[in-house]
Amino acid sequence: MSAAVAPQPAIDNPWLNAQRQFDEAAELLELDPALRCVLREVRREFTVRFPVKLDSGHVQMFEGYRVQHNLTRGPAKGGIRFHPQVSLDEVKALAMWMTWKCALVDIPYGGAKGGVIVDPAQLTHRELERLTRRFASEISVLVGPDSDIPAPDVNTTAEIMAWIMDTISMEAGYSIPAVVTGKPLEIGGSEGRPSATGRGVTVVALETCRRLGRDPAATTVAVQGFGNVGGVAARLLTEAGFRVCAVSDASGAIYDPGGLDIAAVLEHHTRNRTVAGFPGAEQLTNAALLELPVDMLVPAALENQITAGNAARIKASLIVEAANGPTTTDADHILEKRGVVVVPDILANAGGVTVSYFEWVQDLQSFFWEEAEINQRLERIMRRAFAQMCGRSDEHHVSLRMGAYLVAVQRVAAATTVRGIYP
Ligand code: GLU
Repeated sequence: MSAAVAPQPAIDNPWLNAQRQFDEAAELLELDPALRCVLREVRREFTVRFPVKLDSGHVQMFEGYRVQHNLTRGPAKGGIRFHPQVSLDEVKALAMWMTWKCALVDIPYGGAKGGVIVDPAQLTHRELERLTRRFASEISVLVGPDSDIPAPDVNTTAEIMAWIMDTISMEAGYSIPAVVTGKPLEIGGSEGRPSATGRGVTVVALETCRRLGRDPAATTVAVQGFGNVGGVAARLLTEAGFRVCAVSDASGAIYDPGGLDIAAVLEHHTRNRTVAGFPGAEQLTNAALLELPVDMLVPAALENQITAGNAARIKASLIVEAANGPTTTDADHILEKRGVVVVPDILANAGGVTVSYFEWVQDLQSFFWEEAEINQRLERIMRRAFAQMCGRSDEHHVSLRMGAYLVAVQRVAAATTVRGIYP
């Protein structure tokens, strides 16, 4: 197969995309105009510029953000990403999506997100630690176990969460494990957290197959992204009986129409830090992966992957959004017209924040649960949210995304109404 590169789509602004999704839901809900203008803006946006001493002795300035979209239902919650393309508008969108995600799975949080404009691959391990600690210190005016709880996101790991926890704790003079989730087990992390997002994706994929009367064993899958979400999803989807035919990472995609040996791909990835070059598979671009003739597509990388530029050429009839914001609103409308079922990000990838919630609860109580209990509770929450989303979607004859938004926005709107506008 030729590695055809999709024409470059127009640059989509994720924040405008997020606001358009909200506006559509607000319209369907006939939301009160006052609530509309409160919920379509972010509550706080915080920009920091800070120096980091490089190993060479030189000092480099970095820019980072922490945005809190909403705190009505509880402390703000959301990850921190390290990526060269981070922007304030991207972080605002991701913060708003966290609000809806937490409301949809009904955990007592608002939404936040953070990011630093940096390519962590260009830093040494020590430089990465200094950057993380300085950024944690800069945003410490906002974060805390009762106010705003960060977690991993794109290019941030359990080790980075440990540095954040340590920095905040050192500044306080005592350990505050509940200030961040996705930590290592040794300092109050939770069993099942590293695989939680991928596990949630799998639960949702199975539920969707059940709803559509499809057999997972007869369902071929392409997964875009092979990080903590895509890699785990590929493994668990395979264990659940799906046939994963294509996976990718930033350096490219691999494809075998007969199905990939995911255990072998994971080994190859551990050895070479990329899936590219996996023996016996066709090598493709990420753009080509999205257009493969598979039944189910799992975008598990960055936003704006499925756009008006390529939506008409997507062959999968089912898309499970493991990434945040992989589909633009224009693409959404094209896919809907074509009858493609899109399981929205705010449900599909909510497994991560759900187990983050379990981690936070365990930290606050200093009482830890076994992995079997975590996974069982996670599945229960994901299935409940899936059923509520489908219920609203069927009732209003709207897409699953709008079904999910109706549930989520209504919960946040109801909480805002009972609290009232201060003062
Ligand atoms: N970064 C993940 C997300 O986008 C997890 C956030 C969290 O656990 O707080 O949902």
